[in-house]
This record gives sequence, structure tokens and C-alpha cells, in this order.
Amino acid sequence: MTTVDMVTPEALAEAERWTAHNYHPLPVVVADAEGAWVTDVDGRRYLDFLAGYSALNFGHRHPSLIAAAHAQLDRLTLTSRAFVHDQFADFCRGLAQLCGKDLVLPMNTGAEAVETAIKVARKWGYRVKGVPDGRANIVVAENNFHGRTTTIVSFSTDPDARDDFGPYTPGFTIVPYGDLEALTAAVDEHTVAVLLEPIQGEAGVLVPPTGYFAGVREVCTDRKVLLIADEIQSGLGRTGRTFAIEHEDVVPDMYVLGKALGGGIVPVSAVAANRDVLGVLKPGEHGSTFGGNPLACAIGVEVVRLLERGDFQRRSAELGERLHDGLRALIGRGVLAVRGRGLWAGVDIDPALMTGRQACERLAEQGVLAKDTHGSTIRLAPPLVVTPAELDQAVAVLAKVLDEAR
Ligand code: PLP
Repeated sequence: MTTVDMVTPEALAEAERWTAHNYHPLPVVVADAEGAWVTDVDGRRYLDFLAGYSALNFGHRHPSLIAAAHAQLDRLTLTSRAFVHDQFADFCRGLAQLCGKDLVLPMNTGAEAVETAIKVARKWGYRVKGVPDGRANIVVAENNFHGRTTTIVSFSTDPDARDDFGPYTPGFTIVPYGDLEALTAAVDEHTVAVLLEPIQGEAGVLVPPTGYFAGVREVCTDRKVLLIADEIQSGLGRTGRTFAIEHEDVVPDMYVLGKALGGGIVPVSAVAANRDVLGVLKPGEHGSTFGGNPLACAIGVEVVRLLERGDFQRRSAELGERLHDGLRALIGRGVLAVRGRGLWAGVDIDPALMTGRQACERLAEQGVLAKDTHGSTIRLAPPLVVTPAELDQAVAVLAKVLDEAR
């Protein structure tokens, strides 16, 4: 019997039996999905308020993305970068223009794009800024989340992500997030980049103080340091703008993108920057067999098209107000605080009532999928195709879960 034919407990046990336990999933086994909804192997339906950690901004199986994928599957799926294919330039041009940058370097996962940004910044530091060989440093923030590779976890402050994975890659200085003074003090003559999330998602959807990024931009410009915005989770419409850093009227030197760039179908990531930065890379210095493959690019072209229209961003801004109003009304009814922008919220549940994990388990039992971040914080990030009624439904379920615990 395959898991397709199993009921939930059997399918869960089978997954547990055969996999490394590097995740602690909610006990839901999804069989199919459409828009903001998923259905499990027993036929139960759930509102998906995690949306693949924002990889599903356009919803499950968005028709134009699925059509683009199908059309490409019937023609060409992989060439490697040893050859050029006919989707490559369209994707890179479209994404570069969406970002307002000269060039794009496509990769696959978010972590790979972050690694790419780090390599580019270091090389730029040595070749353009004139930092002595091997001395480059990059300033990052406490509670950051940029991925899981050994270099990236080297500058994580989360013991679960970092401990036991040393020896660690040197060259990173960690400062408190949102503290401009600390960041300014940390920048020295060997600093090549400041790498930040415009909103810290995994840390609990932490929004920095107004003016923080404008200040960071000024420091970076004055001290000849690259500002790298990791928009992998915050970008591509999630917060009501194409990029979350736009809320601060700031343009970074490099965007790092992933998740929704693949339309919820395949992993697609990229960095975008101007020629004076990305142009430092020469053939043979960086790459990936699957990076910028034809299927990824065909889907990416359609993702860019959807974002160029602006309606997902508008929808996220408008419905975000509704979501945040609804969640704020729960403050004092089991919720301690609500943060975020657009259709993205970090909700601190009163720890006296339940942990974030327990909240998510109870939400799932009542048909809403969400994920805890740390302690008693849960994160809500529905697909941007969610309807007002679906938003209200999810908030009502959260209210019920909290009321039942009080
Ligand atoms: N950067 C940020 C801000 C993220 O939220 C994530 C994933 O959650 C990553 C990087 C890593 O992306 P991936 O899991 O695709 O490697």
C-alpha cells in the first residue's frame, strides 16, 4: 500500500519511520490543494495560513503558473548553464526590471541565494572596495534567519540552528536588530556588507522601528558598504508592496529572493544587483546545475508578470488591514501582541494559556493551518488569494481556540 491510500495516522507513522527527524510537522497529511485551501488524505479541508512560509503567495496551483509549468514541461526542462535556453533572458530581464536592477543571478533555494550574496559581497569588497585579502566582514542581525548551510548557521543566534555544526565560518559581526547605533558602531573599514531581513519572519515577524532602514542605508552609502536585503520571505507581495523594504523608502544594493519566486511549484531563488556589484563574478566562480533552468525560468516569467500587475500587492495591503484589525481585537482575549505588515502577522499568544505549538495544533483541529515560530508566537501568512470571508473565518477560529483555553 502506498501512503496515497493510507489514512492520517498510518501515513504519519510511515513518514516518521523513513525520514530524519529534522522537522516536527503538525499531524496533517496533505493530499491536494487549491487556492488558499488544502485537503488531507481523509478528505478534511483546511485553510492554509502558512502558505509554504510565503512560497505560496499566489495560492496553491495558481492557474497561470500551472499553465506556464505544463507548457514548459512539454518542451524543455533542463539544459544546465553550459548552454543558454530560450526562457533564460526573459526571466532575468523581467526580474531585473521588477527589482530596478541591472542584473540577476538565478539559483534554486533561498540559502543558495544568500550564499551567493555573501560571495558576491566578499569579492566586491576585495576587488572594488580594496579590503585586504581574507579580512572582509559582514554585519548581520541577532535572531536572523537566512537558511541552513554551514556558513549561514555560523552567524545564527539560534542554538537549535547553530550548535553542534561548527567549526563556524568567520567574517560576520552580529548586532541587535533595529538598533542603528549598534550597527553603525559595528561597521569598520573591512565591512563589505550589511545583510538584513526587512522584517524578521522566523524571529516572530519583527518589524524594525520606523527610520531604521533609512539610517542603515545612509551608513552603508557613507561607509561604502553594500546593503543586502533578504526578501526571501518578506518579498514578492507578502507585505503589500513588491518588497518589504519599500515601506521604508529604501533601495538596497542587492535583493535576495526565493520562495514565491518559484510560484509554489519549483525552488527558484535569485540575487539582483547592479553591474558594478554582480559584475564582479567571472565564469567558473559561482554556479549551480539547476540554477536558472528552463522550467524554473518559465514559471519565474509568469511570477514576474503576476507581480507587475500590482494586484497581489494591493490585495495584501487591503486585506492585511482586515487581518490585523481582526487580530488586534483579540488582544486581551488571549493575545498579547500582534505585529507585521500586509497579509503577514506574528501573534503572541498568552503563554499562560498555551504554547505556540499547542495553538497551532488546536487551529489545525479546527481547520486552519499555521505555524509557531518561537515560544508562544504563531505566524499567519495566508496566500494572497485569500478572500475576506476566509480571513474572517480563520480569525474566528483563533478566537474560538483562545476562548476555549481561557
Ligand atoms: N532567508 C529567509 C528570510 C527565510 O525566511 C528563509 C527560509 O525560511 C531562507 C532565507 C532560506 O530559504 P530556503 O529554505 O529556501 O533555503
